[in-house]
Amino acid sequence: MPQYRFACFAIALPLYRVFEYRLDESDSSVVGTRYRLPFGQGTRSGILLEVSDHSDFDAAKIKPVRERIDLEPVLGEHILALAKWMSEYYLQPPGDVIFQCLPGYLRGARAYQPLRVKRWRLLTDDAEAISALERGSPRQFEICQALLQESQGMTAIEFKRVNPGWHPVVKALEGKLLIGWEWDDKPARPVVAPELPQLSSEQDDILRAIKPRLQQFAVHLLDGITGSGKTEIYLRLIQNCLEQGQQVIYLVPEIGLTNQLIDRVRHRLGECFAISHSGLTEYQRFQAWDRFRRAEATIMLGTRSCLFSQCDHLGLIIIDEEHDHSYRQEDGVRYHARDVAIKRAQMLDIPIVLGSATPSLESIANCERSTFFRYRMDHRPTRFDPPSIQLIDTRNSRFDFGCAAQTFARIDAHLEDSGQVLVYLNRRGYAPIVMCHECGWQSQCRNCDARLTLHQSQQALLCHHCGYRQLVPEVCPECGHDEIKHYGIGTEQLEQGLNQRYPDTPVLRVDRDVISSREALKSRLEQLQSGAPCILIGTQMIAKGHDYPAITLSVVLDADQALFSASYRASERLAQTLLQVCGRSGRGDRAGEAIVQTRFPEHPLMQALSRRPYREVADDLLQERRLLGFPPYARVVIFRSDAQELKQALSKLETIKGLLQQSPRFQQLLSIGPIPALMTRRIGRYRAQLSLIATDHRLLRALLAEAMPAIQEIPSTARANWNIDIDAYDL
Ligand code: ADP
Ligand code: ZN
Ligand code: ZN
Repeated sequence: MPQYRFACFAIALPLYRVFEYRLDESDSSVVGTRYRLPFGQGTRSGILLEVSDHSDFDAAKIKPVRERIDLEPVLGEHILALAKWMSEYYLQPPGDVIFQCLPGYLRGARAYQPLRVKRWRLLTDDAEAISALERGSPRQFEICQALLQESQGMTAIEFKRVNPGWHPVVKALEGKLLIGWEWDDKPARPVVAPELPQLSSEQDDILRAIKPRLQQFAVHLLDGITGSGKTEIYLRLIQNCLEQGQQVIYLVPEIGLTNQLIDRVRHRLGECFAISHSGLTEYQRFQAWDRFRRAEATIMLGTRSCLFSQCDHLGLIIIDEEHDHSYRQEDGVRYHARDVAIKRAQMLDIPIVLGSATPSLESIANCERSTFFRYRMDHRPTRFDPPSIQLIDTRNSRFDFGCAAQTFARIDAHLEDSGQVLVYLNRRGYAPIVMCHECGWQSQCRNCDARLTLHQSQQALLCHHCGYRQLVPEVCPECGHDEIKHYGIGTEQLEQGLNQRYPDTPVLRVDRDVISSREALKSRLEQLQSGAPCILIGTQMIAKGHDYPAITLSVVLDADQALFSASYRASERLAQTLLQVCGRSGRGDRAGEAIVQTRFPEHPLMQALSRRPYREVADDLLQERRLLGFPPYARVVIFRSDAQELKQALSKLETIKGLLQQSPRFQQLLSIGPIPALMTRRIGRYRAQLSLIATDHRLLRALLAEAMPAIQEIPSTARANWNIDIDAYDL
């Protein structure tokens, strides 16, 4: 009778289960190692979760694994434990959750091999041999000069900054035996920053208060106005960790990772950080992940999914702009990076620092429950405090490409005074509405319940949801009339208009249509850095994360839509956006000004935003949420379905509701639906939802614990699938 060992594996499938296979007696792998497993007609990659000497099933029927992929585990026990918690808390399929903790590059069947890095050093101290290069081989000379400055030697990344075409030059120097390399497995050392800015008294007090609490788990919220020096505090805390041989994860919003921040970190701490964001290739992100894992990089700086980076000595997690929407993953495995990060810090018993000028209502409520430490920063260390918001009443205004006359007057004044101006308009394209003047026909997407946006530079109508494109019709497809008109303003039209009005001033547009790469963004931001007068216009890409001291005027063109949104989060998001946009100005040695055009200047929210600080506005919004029984005073869970036909989606949710109703607890909480989603048809699929709202968190969890085992058996198919969204962002 052969002896077997059995093992459980996670496979990336939307199924609420793990899979059992047989291991060789001799196999001594540890958990977190990937295997190729026979599955259906083919094979799948699986991650080893648990090994056991016996199985509840007939041993002979359990298939043996095909082969081991990795020599060492790709996921450590801590990340596996975090994934287990996520899968249980967010009720997501365990295989999906575990695989999304890996960099994309390792989700398939590629074997993991730690990357090793070469470090080059000068092999000669013959100064003459080096200066002899200066005339004939200036690029070789340049590299040698750089190496002379670096007693630690240099890596490819560092050479690249000296000369993007470094490789042949370094090869040539190797050939001359002037330089040589060895494998580098020592952690990069932080540089000692040349001179640190004198801390403001606010900053100093906060660091003194946080420092004694750095040896254990605690959530610290830096609640500091825009430009109050939060980043400076992060940098000091990071430095503190590095000095103790610890590593740091530093998360920023999806578009907050500007070169400005990277330069700032590099200037202060040297090359000891890895960067990861969605603009990089899978391989580059894997490199960053691996450098951090081997402790070659001591800081992981990046967006949401960097949260799952592994290392042996994590000492601190930082989440900048903690209120930002991009921390929520809205497709695939649904989670909130802030909340998972807090859990991770708690499991490791390390501190986590959140920062924002406009903290989320969730975090503010957590401070009130005194589970978070809150530190207020009310002043900028630079000369001027952020401008307060001035409302421009546009009820009787004439508009030119979205700007009222009073707005132009302010732009004129700031440009004349050599200031830079930021104009925020969160709508890309030329015009959002294309309509027949005669019969009222409007251009609709054929895959979505949405209008097509006119993009004049492409002479096309585009859907912003599915990418569908069609030519602009010359005559109305309904009535044949040739008077097709457009209404409303997008950034493309605004750019054109401002270019005409200010022919001598550069107009820099930043939105997804013109910024296809980070390089494109970089070149525009460099113009801002120069400090010369210019107008920056853009969508939410320009609303946050940057610090350009020459901006003296922020303008918000169209904020009114949010005042009448059906979403209970709309007021919070509007307040955050307006304050973030307005907070971009006045950061240098000139005071800033901030104006918001509105046709509803008497609206209570507009009034509040123009007169009172964010904290007071936020307290009022919290009050409202409490009265209405919305988060953070309630929990929202949404079951969603999308299908080829609406009735299939609705019927899937009816089945789920039926299972929920079997528990008497169902009657004790509020449920809405199943109903068609707000945008019912999107990318050719019909969508519906079933929402549960409960002020009693435990009641909701108990209901789900009872009903989920049966619900999880409901298959998700291409015809009609379903998923669950815990702590859903909206209703
Ligand atoms: P926040 O992260 O709160 O927006 P930053 O840390 O980016 O603020 O600081 C805003 C500006 O103030 C930056 O230009 C920064 O260099 C500067 N700054 C921050 N702290 C100090 C300080 N203690 N002394 C002088 N300037 C400072
Ligand atoms: Zn018509
Ligand atoms: Zn569409």
